Amino acid sequence: METVTLRSSNEQAFTIQVSGLVQGVGFRPRVWQLARRLDLRGRVSNNGKGVQILVAGEEENLRQFIHELTHNPPPLAKIAEIFTRGISLCEVPEDTFVIAGTDKSPVQTGIVPDAAPCPECVKEIFDPFARRYRYPFTNCTHCGPRLTIQEGIPYDRPSTTLKDFPLCEACLKEYQDPQNRRFHAQPIACHACGPKVWIERLDGKPVTVHSYTMLDEADAVCSLLQKGHIVAIKGLGGFQLACDATREDAVSRLRALKHREGKPLALMARDLEVIRRYCAVGEREAELLQSQAAPIVILKRHPERALAPSVAPGMSTYGCMLASSPLHHLILHRMAQPIVLTSGNHAGEPQWIDNDQAKVHLNNIAEFVVLHNRGIAQRVDDSVVKVMDQVPRVLRRSRGFAPIPIGFPQGFEHSPAILAMGGELKNTFCFLKDGQALLSHHIGDLEDSLTYADYQRAISHYQHLFEHKPDCIAVDLHPEYLSSKLGRAQANFGHLPVFDIQHHHAHLAACLVENGICVTTAPVLGVVLDGLGYGEDDTMWGGEFLLADYAGFTRVGTFKPVPMLGGTQAIKEPWRNTYAHVMAEMGWAEFAMNYSDLPLCNFLEKKPRVMLDRMLNHRINSPLASSCGRLFDAAAAAMGICTEHVFYEGQAAMEMEALVDEDTLHHEDESLAYPFSILRLKHSGLPYVEPLGMWQALLGDLILHTPVPVMAARFHKGLANVICQMVTQGSQSPDGHDRHQTVVLSGGVFQNQVLFELVKGKLTAEGFNVLSHKQVPMNDGGIALGQAAIAAARSLQETNEVRSTCV
Ligand SMILES: [Zn+2]
Ligand SMILES: [Zn+2]
Repeated sequence: METVTLRSSNEQAFTIQVSGLVQGVGFRPRVWQLARRLDLRGRVSNNGKGVQILVAGEEENLRQFIHELTHNPPPLAKIAEIFTRGISLCEVPEDTFVIAGTDKSPVQTGIVPDAAPCPECVKEIFDPFARRYRYPFTNCTHCGPRLTIQEGIPYDRPSTTLKDFPLCEACLKEYQDPQNRRFHAQPIACHACGPKVWIERLDGKPVTVHSYTMLDEADAVCSLLQKGHIVAIKGLGGFQLACDATREDAVSRLRALKHREGKPLALMARDLEVIRRYCAVGEREAELLQSQAAPIVILKRHPERALAPSVAPGMSTYGCMLASSPLHHLILHRMAQPIVLTSGNHAGEPQWIDNDQAKVHLNNIAEFVVLHNRGIAQRVDDSVVKVMDQVPRVLRRSRGFAPIPIGFPQGFEHSPAILAMGGELKNTFCFLKDGQALLSHHIGDLEDSLTYADYQRAISHYQHLFEHKPDCIAVDLHPEYLSSKLGRAQANFGHLPVFDIQHHHAHLAACLVENGICVTTAPVLGVVLDGLGYGEDDTMWGGEFLLADYAGFTRVGTFKPVPMLGGTQAIKEPWRNTYAHVMAEMGWAEFAMNYSDLPLCNFLEKKPRVMLDRMLNHRINSPLASSCGRLFDAAAAAMGICTEHVFYEGQAAMEMEALVDEDTLHHEDESLAYPFSILRLKHSGLPYVEPLGMWQALLGDLILHTPVPVMAARFHKGLANVICQMVTQGSQSPDGHDRHQTVVLSGGVFQNQVLFELVKGKLTAEGFNVLSHKQVPMNDGGIALGQAAIAAARSLQETNEVRSTCV
């Protein structure tokens, strides 16, 4: 007997390939539900490239199916491409729609970043009648951990740190039911079968939880924090240290014990309402805070409603986030004020991820520790975002963002596989393959040996997860960076070519990539301002105007090269830069004659000037640096901001920005902005920013006792003016007829919101197309991406692979 299925005459069939972040995010059940609703037949399966769908049905329904799929994918999915092809009806044998398994082709699809709990899961953990009431590891296909628990590929439970927790019957039922939000959610668990949380005292004495709460461990943490205790908490990507942000005793103790002086501490709050009590939260900022990445968002604080002074000394902002895991939700539920939540480590080191190590190393900081038995496969920090010029910009790309692949622009499809090692500070590294880049999460400053070890571990973890084998390696030009040394050693070992990439060129290229500029673009003008980077002439650069494309660059302008007195000591002691500038501009005799009444003169007089002058005159340990960051230090120190020393790089500049008087900034006569001029360097003829006029005006203001906030505003305005003048000048072609229309702004100095918005506003008003960073940090956290792009462009050029067809 033959079964005959009647089909209407206008049935069609398609094969649909979806690529991007589409595995482990509930994509197949979404397809399944949609197909059933629209009365389609066929099947959906995972394959090496993503998700493959074979589908047949009425033409109108198919059209709607594809539309829905494209416009309403599951929350965590990121579709890169949907490729649809018509096939004959007989290629779809199914009578109904089914979910098929995964084929075993090599995995090319990306790994989804960790996501904060979705609204449904939050509702469940606070619902006394739900099975997961107060369960700290509640998650579903729309939320929960990913990168931090993933040990291998493919992304299945056995290759996560939940492998030792077999699902109970109830969880298994959810896992197997395509109608359920937890269908194939790899990390699901519950009170019966999943990981557990408990509290320990770090002095080894027993904890009596019931003396702090009637509820459970998570709730007890809330009581401990309210009593002023410092508590270590095992978070998603590592241990964190928490205390009540309104208690100065607790916050200052935490700072002292952690040896973290000065640098602002991050805050976490139960909800937006709590944050709004202390900060101004705009619409975009509210969206960011509530997004599934749940980053730290830098917010303007209310001047009159402050938390403990030690939270963010000298700043006019707070870095705030909302709960990023169910555990944090449970801890914060009864907390009507924010808590300080900072990584569990000593200053400079990576945070601990292992229970036993954390107990040993954090016992001199915290009194209690909240532990659990779900392992952390990859240490990940919190991400940091700031809205500038109305656009959210990622300053530290980590939890919630990494490792979302970054699509490379046209022309990079055929580039070789590249490993880019990044820089020394705020390090990240980057893999490039098939036109897709994986920029690692934030690693940190490699000068710390534990961070360096973590960096090596993370590179091999990513290499394993993404099955990446580099054909060549890109490193920073700086010969002493540990990342450069490691990259060269790896290249040597594997007989791979190495590309040396200039630091500021890498900044600029990273910006081109994320703005989708094609590989054959004509040179654009880049303004790259940061602390320090190794220059092509073996001096230190840090305030550069470059005319560049991906493959190469010409330096068309710079800041005045001034000696860094004492080398790196000049980064720690801003007055050294003031002294070097004063000596470079006018010499001591003139300075002392004109400004002898100034406390600044008195202050510098007392420094060991004979030795300092000998260093300057004989160029001993005082390398020339054209650094915009050091210029900020010099000016800030002269105004009395962090004159003696800073606790972290850029502190003086950040405090100066925090002081800027808004009224002066927007309403004062332009002529009072500090004047810089543009002159040419003696030997090379290169135009440079000459600060003599600025110094005369600044010192004059000091004599007049001009308030520091007014001076800070005048400095920012003057600096923005001269940057725009340099751009206008540098953008002209030699004959003066054409000009480069596109300007790139990059480098850590542009994290200064006042300067960034002034420069961007002015350049835009003058008709320039201004590009800057959004998803990739403008600081050194972004340069690995630029290194990869430059190495790719150069190797494509070598093999004549660059197509001239880009538009
Ligand atoms: Zn969920
Ligand atoms: Zn269970």
